[in-house]
Amino acid sequence: MPDQAPVLEIRDLHKAYGQLEVLKGVDLVAERGRVVSLIGSSGSGKSTLLRCANLLEDSQQGEILFEGEAVKWRGAGHNRRPADPAQITRIRTNLSMVFQSFNLWSHMTILQNVMEAPVHVLGRDPAQVEEAARGYLAKVGIGDKCDAWPAQLSGGQQQRAAIARALCMEPKALLFDEPTSALDPELEQEVVRVIKSLAEEGRTMVIVTHDMRLAADVSDHVIFLHKGLVEEEGAPDILFGQPKSERLRGFLSATV
Ligand code: ADP
Ligand code: MG
Repeated sequence: MPDQAPVLEIRDLHKAYGQLEVLKGVDLVAERGRVVSLIGSSGSGKSTLLRCANLLEDSQQGEILFEGEAVKWRGAGHNRRPADPAQITRIRTNLSMVFQSFNLWSHMTILQNVMEAPVHVLGRDPAQVEEAARGYLAKVGIGDKCDAWPAQLSGGQQQRAAIARALCMEPKALLFDEPTSALDPELEQEVVRVIKSLAEEGRTMVIVTHDMRLAADVSDHVIFLHKGLVEEEGAPDILFGQPKSERLRGFLSATV
């Protein structure tokens, strides 16, 4: 049964910051090997949804399931918190995030950045992690930057290092939050290429992006979020080719 379950499933998720309702009952399913993209205007709740999914943020109502296993909660409403520390760690380490701003540690080399969490959070063997880390850095095209400091790399290279770092956790899914938004257009493409290659090898991914071409090219499913609700969703060719909602049509014509 767990083998058949989606890697990540979110049901009717509600999240408010104080009085501000940001998610008003959102569903999302990421089946194994599938790519789901989340699009929508700034402030529609995309980042919040990703952060709730891997328990970086609390939510007040609704369910989050990792490989069919529902997050256990204690308390309710604004007092609701994940209850099981082992489960929190399992979910955070298996849903690896890549952020818009890379978030590399500036006082560590690129190799050290990639090795840090597998060695110090997961307790894996450093020699094996180093071999894997070098492999992932080569895979994203910066195998020659192991001993460089983050500040010596371009934005595109830093983001690829951040992707290698996420991969080195051997996660069940990758969650990307606007991975190309901080990059100049010519550097954007080198990150897009890496994301496409990950999609081709069957990685499970949830990608928040403003890049409609990326969403159209890599996704199995696209969700358009509007003010904390799923306004429209579907296969990319249909969602982009024949958008039904007026809001989605407006959004698409404003972004391209
Ligand atoms: P998106 O990623 O789609 O641009 P966000 O999820 O970042 O949207 O934000 C959704 C809404 O939640 C916005 O109105 C934003 O101002 C608000 N918000 C996000 N983070 C916080 C926070 N830590 N505290 C209060 N409000 C927040
Ligand atoms: Mg955001």
